[in-house]
Amino acid sequence: MADRINRRIVMAARPEGAPRDGDFRLEETAVAEPVAGELLCRTLYLSLDPYMRGRMAAAKSYAARVELGELMVGGAVSEVLRSKAEDFQPGDIVFAYSGWQDYWTAGAQGPRGIQGLRKVDPGIAPISTAVGVLGMPGMTAYTGLYNIGQPRAGETLVVAAASGPVGSLVGQIAKIEGLRVVGVAGSAEKCAYVTGELGFDACLNHREAGLAGKLAEACPEGIDIYWENVGGAVFEAVLPRLNRFARVPVCGLVAQYNLTEPPPGPNRIPQLMRAVLTDRLLIRGFIVWDFADQEAEFRDTVAGWLRGGRIKYREDVVDGLENAPRAFQGLLQGRNFGKQIIRVAPER
Ligand code: NDP
Repeated sequence: MADRINRRIVMAARPEGAPRDGDFRLEETAVAEPVAGELLCRTLYLSLDPYMRGRMAAAKSYAARVELGELMVGGAVSEVLRSKAEDFQPGDIVFAYSGWQDYWTAGAQGPRGIQGLRKVDPGIAPISTAVGVLGMPGMTAYTGLYNIGQPRAGETLVVAAASGPVGSLVGQIAKIEGLRVVGVAGSAEKCAYVTGELGFDACLNHREAGLAGKLAEACPEGIDIYWENVGGAVFEAVLPRLNRFARVPVCGLVAQYNLTEPPPGPNRIPQLMRAVLTDRLLIRGFIVWDFADQEAEFRDTVAGWLRGGRIKYREDVVDGLENAPRAFQGLLQGRNFGKQIIRVAPER
């Protein structure tokens, strides 16, 4: 592969507030030859996810951070070009946390061991779904909802970032389970998709005034499950509407990932703790890998729903690795409409 050049995007600076172009740098390196146990792969679809903002931050988190000059982390669907590993053939499609780059050389173990390496079956659904509805975001929705949300028919669920890969599946599973489902999204177009295509009962635009009042109208019997994807103003509107014994799976807080200091306003912790006590709220944070043992169940179940036309998904595909930094900046501000994917190279 001496004639091939690998383009890779590294973190050039730790972002302060919203990431900017200068926080990323595109570099070119040689493509390494695979040794025994390794694969050489070409990236096809790179997943962009909100968690990457946390990896760019200096603050301690649940996973290792990216250091200055290091490759940006990310899951991707790739094609095997050469294999010196048992069980893999050229042409196989694989998923791995291979990062923001054109090519990668690694094995399941060893010095160049790569996280999450698995084959993707192209016969089940388009292979890009391995980073979306049939991948990490889908598993987040499935496991968090059943384990923490504990949906029961007739209840009301509210979920924000409702047109994204996590929120859209949370809401659709809740509909399958017989709940009333209210989405929150960032534009009229997204809300029209959430009700018209995904079948939610209502969807509210959080960028319009009066969210709290509209939420009260859309949830006449209160809220039994609030799926927390965003935090901030949406959570403040939801909190007074939570029913006794409501469950709040805390999945993400994307509204605050770019904050550099606490938002202005009164301290709401006493109000929150009073509600937790008097209404016996269950508020539980989780990371998808807390439920790693449920991965096969998730994939079988959701693939079945996909085949049966019971759930839909939407992808927002941007062409070109060089466009990943801009797309990532947009994802944190709601400019994506569906699962944000970078098409790094065309499928053959
Ligand atoms: P999305 O594709 O839905 O993208 C994020 C969305 O968040 C944006 O499109 C935007 O949608 C919304 N958003 C951004 N800023 C704000 C804001 N200030 N107020 C309200 N909404 C905002 O992302 P995912 O589906 O991939 O992820 C959803 C959440 O789940 C994230 O918080 C993510 O970190 C979390 N997550 C957690 C995991 C875990 O293991 N705990 C695993 C995977 C994801 P809109 O325009 O509709 O507002």
